[in-house]
Amino acid sequence: MKQAFCIPSPAVRPSACPGLLRIVQAKDGGICRIKLPCGRLDVDQAERIARAALQHAGGVIEATNRGNLQIRGIRAGNEDALIGELLDAGLGPRTPGADDVRNLMVSPAAGVDPQALVDISPLAAELLATLENTPRLHALSPKFALLLDGGERLAMLEHPHDIWLCALPLEEGVGYAFGLAGCPPVSANDAPALAIVPATQAHALIIALLDLFLELAKPEQTRMRHLQENHAPAELLQRLQERLGDALLPAGEWRRAPAQGNAHLGVHAQRQPGLVHIGAATVLGRLDTRQLLGLADLARRYGDGNLRLTPWQSVLLANITETAADAVIHSLHAIGLLTDASEPLARIIACTGASGCAKGLADTKADALRLGELLPAGEEQPGIHLTGCSRSCAAAHRAPFTLLAVAEGRYDLFARQPLGNGFGQLLGHHLTPDEAAELLASLTATRSFTR
Ligand code: SF4
Repeated sequence: MKQAFCIPSPAVRPSACPGLLRIVQAKDGGICRIKLPCGRLDVDQAERIARAALQHAGGVIEATNRGNLQIRGIRAGNEDALIGELLDAGLGPRTPGADDVRNLMVSPAAGVDPQALVDISPLAAELLATLENTPRLHALSPKFALLLDGGERLAMLEHPHDIWLCALPLEEGVGYAFGLAGCPPVSANDAPALAIVPATQAHALIIALLDLFLELAKPEQTRMRHLQENHAPAELLQRLQERLGDALLPAGEWRRAPAQGNAHLGVHAQRQPGLVHIGAATVLGRLDTRQLLGLADLARRYGDGNLRLTPWQSVLLANITETAADAVIHSLHAIGLLTDASEPLARIIACTGASGCAKGLADTKADALRLGELLPAGEEQPGIHLTGCSRSCAAAHRAPFTLLAVAEGRYDLFARQPLGNGFGQLLGHHLTPDEAAELLASLTATRSFTR
């Protein structure tokens, strides 16, 4: 589907965040972020992204931690042509001002996950359409983020969201627990949900919350957590009750069932008998054009013609027959993707680092590859995050272990604490990747870490 508006447009706001219409410069060239509705794109679109990345950039495509794709290394002078090709492939927003508000996360397995209480896809589609078609909502920050959770076993519950909704069973049908500026509660210590809304009111609730935010927030308050500095959750709930009448119910001690670890990798049965979804991780969040074309080919031959990007910087192929699973796994390995959670590189994430970002103090990607060679294999091994500076672009959550660059080839090692802030407890200072690997191996051997 071709979008008709011209680019660049005055409706595109200045921001440090890349968008499809706003290419942001980095050390290694321009970055264009393609926000995918619910993380999905069809195989034709995937092929067009691959071709555009080769023609207008260096062929490097990144899977982001919000289930989007971005092309980096865009050559100067090629920006408009690249944007035009992506719009021509139907990857742009419905109007130029709507690109930034497409920050809605759902499970990559929505509609096929056997544990889900509801297929969240229709509500997500309705909400995305409202966000894009309602100009007053385009004032939201490019970082303002929403989560719709259908109760899937494959769910990213660790990323904080400005607004989150989780499906739960009610006496009559399904409802949604919801909360602000955080994550759905899983354990007793987690902040509880604000209230519960019946499914029929879920869309109205979200729009009422967005309107409330836009009415109350000062210009410098771009996120829900900022607004809560002046307006307590109880006050926001009362204002919401006034708008929605008697729709809201108390959430009590409701807790979300934990998600299944590593369900984004490998073969998993779907709710549809005889079908499976298969997940494969990129190495450190990067795909080359050959890999993206290979994924499109697999989805076309064995799947439903779509790719689903995940917040684990991986890809899900859905609706594959059980009998084809082995062939698909074999092909995914052949193009260099990871399907086994025991592989060290499947649990390491790294930001762009010094090779592509001026703020990076170390080449995090190269050091992460070295770490991957040294760390032990095993499904129960904890996740590790290498970050070139404290901005932590690669991780929206706190990883069990964080390596924060302090100089070229040198890192401070932190372990996540259950209730702490920041990266956690400092365990080692000024470590080389080899020294960090040795310390990590000894810590994980004694299981001295918090999952
Ligand atoms: S975390 Fe720092 S070094 Fe890494 S990409 Fe972000 S700004 Fe650059």
